[in-house]
Parts: sequence; structure tokens; C-alpha cells
Amino acid sequence: MLEDARRLADGTTVMADVVVIGAGAAGITLARALRDDERTVVVLEGGLGDYDDRHQDLYDGTSVGHDYDLRFSRLRQLGGSTNHWTGYCRPLDALDFEARPWVPDAHGWPVDRDELRPWYAEAAEVCELLGPPPDLEPDWRDVVEGGHEAGLVEESDVVTSSVHQLSPPTRFGERYLEDLAGTPAEQLRVLLGANVTALRCTTSSTTGGATVDRVDVATLDGNRFVVAAPVVILATGGIEVPRLLLSSAEEPVDPLPLPNDLVGRYFSDHLEGVIGELVTATPISALYTAVLLTRLQALLRPSDAATRDAELLATAFALRTVEPQPPGAGRPDPRELGVLLTDGSGGPEHGGPYLAEVHFSVETEPDPDSRVTLADDRDELGMRRTRLDWRITQRTFDSLHRSFELVADDLAARGVGRLRRLRPEAEELRIGWHHMGTTRMHPDPELGVVDADAKVHGIDNLWVAGSSVFPSAGSANPTLTLVALALRLARHLDERGVA
Ligand SMILES: Cc1cc2nc3c(=O)[nH]c(=O)nc-3n(C[C@H](O)[C@H](O)[C@H](O)COP(=O)(O)OP(=O)(O)OC[C@H]3O[C@@H](n4cnc5c(N)ncnc54)[C@H](O)[C@@H]3O)c2cc1C
Repeated sequence: MLEDARRLADGTTVMADVVVIGAGAAGITLARALRDDERTVVVLEGGLGDYDDRHQDLYDGTSVGHDYDLRFSRLRQLGGSTNHWTGYCRPLDALDFEARPWVPDAHGWPVDRDELRPWYAEAAEVCELLGPPPDLEPDWRDVVEGGHEAGLVEESDVVTSSVHQLSPPTRFGERYLEDLAGTPAEQLRVLLGANVTALRCTTSSTTGGATVDRVDVATLDGNRFVVAAPVVILATGGIEVPRLLLSSAEEPVDPLPLPNDLVGRYFSDHLEGVIGELVTATPISALYTAVLLTRLQALLRPSDAATRDAELLATAFALRTVEPQPPGAGRPDPRELGVLLTDGSGGPEHGGPYLAEVHFSVETEPDPDSRVTLADDRDELGMRRTRLDWRITQRTFDSLHRSFELVADDLAARGVGRLRRLRPEAEELRIGWHHMGTTRMHPDPELGVVDADAKVHGIDNLWVAGSSVFPSAGSANPTLTLVALALRLARHLDERGVA
């Protein structure tokens, strides 16, 4: 059932078996997976059913590092940021889960890709993909190539392909609205306009363990109430999760004990943009370029072996066909680029040469100084606003350029085509708007904020869902993985009888 929290009486206490804070991709997935006739799940969603400026304003903050738009990069409404996501989905690569000694503080994930495999398949359904992620199939090349005229670039020791799938894109609020609204209130209550302002904790004098025993909620109409539940799950996105934890730790009454100084640190995102051009003699396979038609998009990336050998960060390259343009249109005429091809052909018999822009996605190096903290100014509900200091190390750029060179040399040597760098000043730098790392996962409370089950270290009943738990980012977009982790968390709570 959907309810408007603005209509709840001031001072009410709402009891639940599970409280999920935030109804974006993670929160809605958890709510649907956890509802059951044995328990009542209450979802507290700060926004309303649709966008409105006053709620969105609660997301404003200050960016003091690499320029970052805190307001545009997420949406405070039912469905969260999936109301404007693009829908690119891909599992992380197997190497992304491993400890990588050449990347500082990349201690590895406490789960590997194999363990996530069934959750990825289920997440693909939640995100309405056309099938399970091809990258996870042993015969993935056949799966992807089936029915297409031109195939994938042959694998080499240096270059491999991976595959994006495109979600319609699923707008979680709209898509699952009827389902949420139609679930009886004894199983599921979704309260809209319910902004959580603090998690209140008590600490057991016998065990020393802390428990969140109530959650403070405020609406923009002025009423305030409390929710109490034995299981509390924070699913407010990679910036609001640390903001809420940090701000709850400052509460004068029943503050939340932070497990360590890592909350908010290691903020990372993907850097994206155009880095160069690929020139080929024969048409570039539609598997790389016709994403809207096929809802699949193959990518090129350095193989795991090459990534290890050259000590790189995770990087992937996507291609976008460029149509021949008249001279003077601002882009080189591909026909003039034939000389760049290894064999000089680009022959008219193929109608070539062909040109594609090369887009990159690179993870930023994990950096403890890249962090979310609290600003001095406050939002309309009295919470300290976000202060984001996003740092991008030189090593991130060096790794990106080295990856490009490796792929370029390999494709040229094999006669696949020629890659050439755009002049650095012509490179376009964009941000993925994927907020990761701020409550990183590690079994050791010295090295992570949450454990392998996404439970906050030192707090008996608080879990986190979303990409803030990613200890490193990989080059893939995060939503498929965070939905898979949310499904895994729901099963974990169910099996342990926690919920
Ligand atoms: C322009 C854009 C394009 C993107 N494209 C892609 C893409 O192609 N592929 C991809 O994988 N990802 C993409 N993303 C990222 C994707 O949108 C996020 O990964 C995903 O939405 C995160 O889900 P979430 O549930 O963790 O957080 P969110 O979707 O942000 O949901 C958090 C929810 O919590 C609520 N909330 C916040 N604070 C509180 C509070 N104090 N109390 C109560 N409720 C609260 C919010 O209102 C919101 O509904 C894109 C993002 C943007 C901005």
C-alpha cells in the first residue's frame, strides 16, 4: 500500500518488522523481495510520487573537489535516480572482485562474481533486460553473435569484448507502482514524503553491541514521527547513505556509533567521455554500434591478463559510428583516413573506410581523501547538507591512456583497424553519476564499513543496500550489481530468520 506520510499524526510511532529507507532501485527491489504474509515491511521514501523542487532541494550540497553536480546526479522521488538513468547494464568483470595489489586499497570484494551469478540473472529480470547477462554465459560469444552478420572482434591476449545490455530503461517507481500499491498494508507500507533525519541507537551494557531502535522521520509539511523495527536497511543512494550515518553520529541523544573513520571515504564514480576514433576498412560490427536496435552493445577492453601485466584500473571502450560528413563539417572525412589503416586498403569494395568514436568508461582509483562529509549549512529539515570532495588521481588518467594505447596497438597489429587519440584538449570528460565506495564492504571492521552481508560493523540490526558498499568500482555501470546485491541481501535476511 502507498501512503502519504504528510497525513500521519505528529508524534506517531509506526511499528514494522523491517524498515527500508529509500525507494530507488535498491529499496524497491528489497521491498518486493522481502514482503511476505509473515512480516510487515515499511518503506520510508523521502520524495513523493513525482518530482518536485522542494524535495529535490534536500539533495543540494557543496562540491569542493572535482566539479560534481549533487542536485542533478540523483532524484529525490519514488524510484529515485532511475527516473533519469540511461539503463546500461553489465555485471562487473571477474577481476573487479579480486584484490589488486597494484591498486592501493583495492583489497577485493568479500564475494566473487560466481556467487553473484544467480542474483545477476534475477536482477536482469528486475531491470527488464532481454535475458541474463551474456558476459556470465560460458558460450557468451555465441549468445551475442547469434543471428548477427558480423561478429565480435577476435579475442587476443590483450583485448577482449564485454557486453552491455540496455534496460528499457526501467523507471522503478513507475514500473513497480501498481505492484507496491496493490500489496496489502499488513505486508508492505510505502510512506511517501517520509524523510529520515536520524537513526537513533542504544548500546547494550552486556554485549556492547549497538542497535538502531528508532528512526526519526520528518515531512516537509512539518509533521514528525518515529519508526521502530528490528531490521533497518539503508537504501538512500551512495551520497545520502554516508550523510545519514555521519549526521546520526552527531545526534546529541542516542547517537549512532560509527564503526570507524571510513564512512564517506573512497567516494568514486566513473569517468566517461570520448577519447579517440577507430578507423576500419570493413564495416564495424553492429554488435558494437547498434545498441538501440539490438539492446546489446559490445565493448572492447584490455583483457584481465593485460590489465594485470600493465597494472591498470578497469577500463572499457564503446564505439559509436560516425557518418561521413561533408568537408568542413568539423570532423575529418573518413575517406581521408584510409592511410591510417594497416594495409592501406579501406577499399571502395567495402564502401569504407569506416569511422567510429571511441567512448571510455574508467573507474577512478580508490582514494580515502575522496569523500563525503557534512557541510555547515542545513537543509529545510535541519539536517547538515552534503559536502563532497571528489578527488581523481593522476594515476586514473595515466591508466586510461595506457589502456587505450594497449588496445590501439593490438587492434592495429592484427589489422582490425586503427585507433587514434583525439588531442587531449578535444577530449570530452563526463561523469557517470554513479556514487560508489562511501560505505565500502570488507569483513574486517578496520577496512570496511559493512561486512560481507552488507551489515554495518558494530551495529546489530543495520544493513546497507546500494553502490556505496562497492569497495571498488570496475568499469561497468553499477545498477545491475546493486540490484543483484539487494536480492542477495533479501535472501540472506530471510534465510537467517533475521527478517
Ligand atoms: C543521468 C544518470 C544516468 C544514469 N545512467 C545509468 C546507467 O545507464 N546504468 C547504470 O547502471 N546506472 C546509471 N545511473 C545510476 C543509477 O541511477 C543509480 O545507480 C541507481 O538509481 C541507484 O539506485 P539506489 O536505489 O541505490 O539509489 P537511488 O535511485 O538514488 O534511490 C535512493 C532513494 O532514497 C530516497 N532518499 C534519499 N534520502 C532519503 C532520506 N533521508 N529519507 C528517505 N528517503 C531518502 C530518494 O528519494 C530515492 O528515492 C545513472 C544516473 C544518472 C543520474
